[in-house]
Amino acid sequence: MTVKTRFAPSPTGFLHVGGARTALYSWLYAKHLNGEFVLRIEDTDLERSTQEAIDAIIEGMTWLGLDWDEGPYYQTKRFDRYNALIDVLIEQNKAYKCYCPKEVLDEVREEQMAAGVKPRYDANHPKIKAANDAATADSPFAIRFRNPTEGSVVFDDQIRGRIEIANKELDDLIIRRSDGSPTYNFCVVVDDWDMGITHVVRGEDHINNTPRQINIYEALGAPVPTFAHCAMILGDDGAKLSKRHGAVSVMQYRDEGYLPHALLNYLVRLGWSHGDQEIFSMEEMISLFELTAISKSASAFNTDKLRWLNHHYIKTTPADEVAKHLAWHLEQQQIDVANGPAITDVIAILAERAETLVELAAQSRYFYHDFSEFEAGAAKKHLRPVAKEPLMLVKEKLAALDSWESEAIHHAIAQTAEDLGQGMGKVGMPLRVAVTGVGQSPSIDAVISLLGRDKTLARIDMALAFIAEREQA
Ligand code: GLU
Repeated sequence: MTVKTRFAPSPTGFLHVGGARTALYSWLYAKHLNGEFVLRIEDTDLERSTQEAIDAIIEGMTWLGLDWDEGPYYQTKRFDRYNALIDVLIEQNKAYKCYCPKEVLDEVREEQMAAGVKPRYDANHPKIKAANDAATADSPFAIRFRNPTEGSVVFDDQIRGRIEIANKELDDLIIRRSDGSPTYNFCVVVDDWDMGITHVVRGEDHINNTPRQINIYEALGAPVPTFAHCAMILGDDGAKLSKRHGAVSVMQYRDEGYLPHALLNYLVRLGWSHGDQEIFSMEEMISLFELTAISKSASAFNTDKLRWLNHHYIKTTPADEVAKHLAWHLEQQQIDVANGPAITDVIAILAERAETLVELAAQSRYFYHDFSEFEAGAAKKHLRPVAKEPLMLVKEKLAALDSWESEAIHHAIAQTAEDLGQGMGKVGMPLRVAVTGVGQSPSIDAVISLLGRDKTLARIDMALAFIAEREQA
């Protein structure tokens, strides 16, 4: 049997980290067993579903690299199929028309709550019975599934273990509304059956639906898939993760400068483990992933750990791969790389210093764009009259170099310090501020080597002019 899993989001908002983690687990499990992964858009709630949300989900999945073998399927395109099966169930007396108006149902629910009993649909309740008996041929009606009244539903959840619910706890749920639209609990069963889904991985918020859905599978004569319900993701304060905790949309993590693989590695560990391993390549995630190793308890989101992973991947991912993702951020920050060093060379010297691609892009600016001002603090400290002589001498030595390699540049700086009888810092720091405009950068010889001779010499001149101006002021 080929394993087939699916991710079935309702398009009512962006792809959030909880959904992305469910999608990842589902995707990994399919890959782990050489199976297939389906994307299905559950858009039956016509009022809350939007095209914008569909686009956002697809964009998020694509950015994360969670590709699908089939789909996206859309439930709104399958209404005929759902309705045909509902008709079969009616014919078999496994579903029936319910004429009871909402007001009566509400009234009964309130009565039940006041009496301290669990609110449920009870076809034999006198008020409901009376409403049904009073219906005429043209009264509106919904279709309810006739849930078994005896016995219980048992399933072995891959994460939570055996779950058993007595049928008397479940009521006859509506499978087609009075406006003719089929409901979630029915559509999901038909889809998972038609699409050959063998393993349903989804959020714990659906666990109460599962016994009801199993009864529908059985009524339809469909095989029941295996279920795995993932626990919630909480914010670091223990509350359910929400916008209040900062970024929750997957695309916002892109905007904030995370590599998709860093987010995937973070998400896979958020509720799943393999010993105490923290770093997983894609191949390792696929080969080691097991549904049964997913944790039963909720996990707390920890941005510091995500940053740590992101820093790790910025440093260890091949520079040409980082460059593909960095390109978008450079564009956002309006940094034009046409007139500067190869972006992969810049990544090689900056990666160590950047936890996000936003920082990396910002730190690379001086390679590509001239600046007209020096960072105030750095200039105040290092572009002082005493820096004039070291800057002039180092400029002279740099201008005379035959080779523009780091080593030769380093030698020119060291020689300047020696000639002046000063420490390296007395030359290096003013030089750093002169050529980068800021007080912090990677090794100055590597920076200068990438920046090129013309820009370096011109910026030293600019720093000298700045010092002269300050002297006069
Ligand atoms: N459409 C449901 C949701 O977005 C998921 C249903 C399922 O996975 O079975 O919560």
